[in-house]
Amino acid sequence: MPRTITHFETHDIRFPTSLTGDGTDAMNTDCDYSSAYVTIFTDGDDPLVGHGMTFTIGRGTDIVCQAIAALANRLVGLDPEELFRNMGKTYDYISADSQLRWIGPEKGVIHIAAGAVNNALWDMFARAQAKPLWKLVVDMTPEELVDATVFRYITDELTREDALAMLRAKESGKKEREAVVLKEGYPAYITSAGWLGYSDDKVTRLTKEAVAAGFNHFKMKVGTDLASDLRRGKLVRSIIDDPQFLPQGSEGRNPNSPELQGKNAGPTGAVLMIDANQVWDVPQAIQYVKDLAEIKPWFIEEPTAPDDILGHATIRRALKPYGIGVATGEHAHNRMVFKQLLQADAIDVCQIDSCRLAGVSEVLSVLLLAAKFGVLVCPHAGGVGLCEYVIHLSVIDYIAISGSMERNVLEYADHLHEHFLYPCSINSRGRYNIPLNPAEGYSIEMHKQSIAQYEWPNGSYWTERRSSGN
Ligand SMILES: [Mg+2]
Repeated sequence: MPRTITHFETHDIRFPTSLTGDGTDAMNTDCDYSSAYVTIFTDGDDPLVGHGMTFTIGRGTDIVCQAIAALANRLVGLDPEELFRNMGKTYDYISADSQLRWIGPEKGVIHIAAGAVNNALWDMFARAQAKPLWKLVVDMTPEELVDATVFRYITDELTREDALAMLRAKESGKKEREAVVLKEGYPAYITSAGWLGYSDDKVTRLTKEAVAAGFNHFKMKVGTDLASDLRRGKLVRSIIDDPQFLPQGSEGRNPNSPELQGKNAGPTGAVLMIDANQVWDVPQAIQYVKDLAEIKPWFIEEPTAPDDILGHATIRRALKPYGIGVATGEHAHNRMVFKQLLQADAIDVCQIDSCRLAGVSEVLSVLLLAAKFGVLVCPHAGGVGLCEYVIHLSVIDYIAISGSMERNVLEYADHLHEHFLYPCSINSRGRYNIPLNPAEGYSIEMHKQSIAQYEWPNGSYWTERRSSGN
C-alpha cells in the first residue's frame, strides 16, 4: 500500500539568546535565535515522518509558520514516494501555487517557508532510505541528482546537460573523496568568538579557547565603530597569530600552503574574516574595509544590501588591490541572485544558506553554479539548526559536485546544539564530524522537550519568564 501524507504540525520556537548577546552584529542587535519548524506525517503500517525548519531571529516567526502551513497544505493527500522520485519537480510544485506566488515569488517569507517544507520532505526521503541526507544525495546517479535539482530560470548559465556533464566528470572520484571526508572531517571556521555584543575579555577568552580547540579560521563582526573594530581585530590577531596559544604539539600551518593561498594568513597560518551584515552603502563599505586592511582579513562578508549584485562587484574590484575578497549569500533570496553574483564576478566566496534557499533542491542548483565558476562554497551557519543542516551540504559539494574541500571552510557557531536529537560535532582538529546515523535524515529533528519549553508564546520557558516579570 502506498503511503499518503496525512497532516503536518508547525511550531514557533524562540530561544532567548538576546539575553547573552549571542548572534549580535552591526544590524541585528537583539536576536532571539528562532526556528519556524514543521513536521510532516504519513499514514501506513510503517509511517514516515519528516522534520524541517527555517531560521528566524524572533518576532515574525509566527508569520513564517503561517506561510509554512499554507505551503505544506499542498502536500496533504499526496504519495511521498511520487514526490521523492523527482524532487526538482516537487520543488516547482511547492512554489507554484498560483495565488501564494504573488507574495513572492521565490523571495521573502514565502520562500523561507518553502525552505522549511522542502527540507522536511528531504528529511523524510533520507529517513525512508535509512541514510543521512548527504549519503542519500551522493549515492544518486548523475541523472537522479539532476532530477532533484531546480533549473528553472538558470538555464542561460547552467542547463541540465551541463550539470550532467559536470557530475559525470566527478563520478570516478566519489568513493575516494567519501573515504577522505569520513576520516578527516570537513574544515570549519568559528564565528562565536567575535559577536559584536561581547566584551574584549570575553572575545579574548573565546578566541584562546577556539585556537586551543584546533580552529584556524576565525570570523569577527564589524561595522558600527571603526576604532573599536580595529582594536578588537588586533586583539584577535594577537591571539591567533601567536604560537603559544596553539594546541599542544601543533606548530600551526604554513601560511604559504595551497589551501591558505590568497587568504591573508598570519605566521601560524591563521585566517581572519570580517562580517558587516549589510550595514554600509557601497562607497562607505570600500572606505571602511580599506581602513581595516591592517588586520588582514581574507574577506568582507555582506558589506552592503544583499540584493545589490553590482554593488558587490564594485566593492570587490575596489578591494582587490588590498588583497581582501568579498563574500555573501546568507540573505541571497534564490538561485537567480547567486547566478547573477557569479556572472558579475561579485564574490570570492559563495555563502549558501540551507533554509533561505528553499531547501536542498535549490541548494544543488547553486552548488552546481558555483562549481561551474570555480567559486568556493562556504555555507552560512550562524543560527539555530544551521550547523546541523549545512554539514550535509558541504559534504555533498565535496563528494559529488566541486570535488574540493581543503580551501573551503564551513561556519560553526557553538550555540543551541543541545536541542537537536543528532547535534553536529567538531573533532580535535577543528573540523566537522560527518553525520553517520541512518536514522538522522537531515539532522534537524528537535527534542520534544525543547519544543515544549521554548514554543512561543506558551512554552514553559516563556510563561515562567512572563510570570517572573522579566
Ligand atoms: Mg554573516
